[in-house]
Amino acid sequence: MIPYDIWPNRQVTVAPNYRRGYCLGAATNGPEPPMSSFAGGIAVINEQFHPERLDVHTQHSPMDPRMRSIDGLGSIRAVYCLLLAILLAGCETPYVHKRPVYNEPTSVSGRVTFARGQLPAQAEAERLSNTRTSSGLLRRAWLELQLHRPLAALDTAATVLFRSDHISARDESFARYLRAEAYRQQGHAERGDYDLERARVLALDPELQRRLLPHVLVPKVSSSPWGHLAVQPRSAWNPKRANRNNLERMKRIRRVTIHHSAMYFRETHSRAAASQIARIQREHMGNRDYGDIGYHFLIDPSGRIWEGRQLRHQGAHSGGPNNIGNIGICVLGNFVRKSSGQGPSASQIRSMEQLVVQLMRHYRFGGEALYCHSDFKNTQCPGPRMQPIVKQFAARLRSQGTKLAAPEEE
Ligand SMILES: [Zn+2]
Repeated sequence: MIPYDIWPNRQVTVAPNYRRGYCLGAATNGPEPPMSSFAGGIAVINEQFHPERLDVHTQHSPMDPRMRSIDGLGSIRAVYCLLLAILLAGCETPYVHKRPVYNEPTSVSGRVTFARGQLPAQAEAERLSNTRTSSGLLRRAWLELQLHRPLAALDTAATVLFRSDHISARDESFARYLRAEAYRQQGHAERGDYDLERARVLALDPELQRRLLPHVLVPKVSSSPWGHLAVQPRSAWNPKRANRNNLERMKRIRRVTIHHSAMYFRETHSRAAASQIARIQREHMGNRDYGDIGYHFLIDPSGRIWEGRQLRHQGAHSGGPNNIGNIGICVLGNFVRKSSGQGPSASQIRSMEQLVVQLMRHYRFGGEALYCHSDFKNTQCPGPRMQPIVKQFAARLRSQGTKLAAPEEE
């Protein structure tokens, strides 16, 4: 038997958690608190007051959660005192854990599975700890990689791979990519070779293709964006000094656009090419008020690649915002079907393809990021005799990510 102290202004202790509070005894005008508030057995214990207040104490069993046995005003007061005590005690540590809204991913795609999360990776992985869907599991494997838990990621990806005989190509491509990444994180990239090979065959998602393209097997051999390719330095064509005030910093590079110079040009000597490029720069700076030549690279009829505007500066070749993160490559010549036109040389096409592949590897994008100028604007550029070549090449890049990624393909 534990006594209830129902007297106002006394310290009370509320069982079963024994939090301390103060019974102010003023709450006689509020609604009667629900008895469930006190479920689990209650006791307001203040034995130190027993001797002097024994007359108003009510004896009550702590195992009986109901207060109805306390009679009259005493019981009402006791109930309100208890309620107040609990409320006040609660105020001491008002711990309310608010979980932000989280919607489990419902699709498998590069945008969703590799998305930058709304929650920290740890928190999101916990939310997904019981997920059974492929989209949830693949997202979780990705998060586990972000948290440097390759073992967990291997398990999670394997769940998707092996729990059923009927896995979709999409799920499998993601699961295998994630597994290969987990092996790589463990320092055993070679164990993921088969997974990568399968993923490359199956992957249709552009973002996944991009990740599969240059990423895992091809080490970056050179810090130069054009790698081992021979590129004539800017100084080789004796450029005018660029007008820095009229140049913008290049943003993250994510695409390449092909142009022609729209001037008939068949010369194969490097001196002729150099002066042609200098002429284009004069035209761009003098007549169009550009800060420099508009293109980042130019390819002459012999297949020589020339450095134009430096890559740290945004180009001026596709019009306004289309230049953002966009490398401009100009193939010298006028590839129209008129008598003043010409076809691109085989060397030019080969160099254009090599340069594009190299840039894609370096900046990690895929065939979907290769454009013609005419994709942005109603123009013939890069000319009806060049455009189909670029389009076919882009389609090849999109469908043959595997071959692209293999160094011997170069
Ligand atoms: Zn153009």
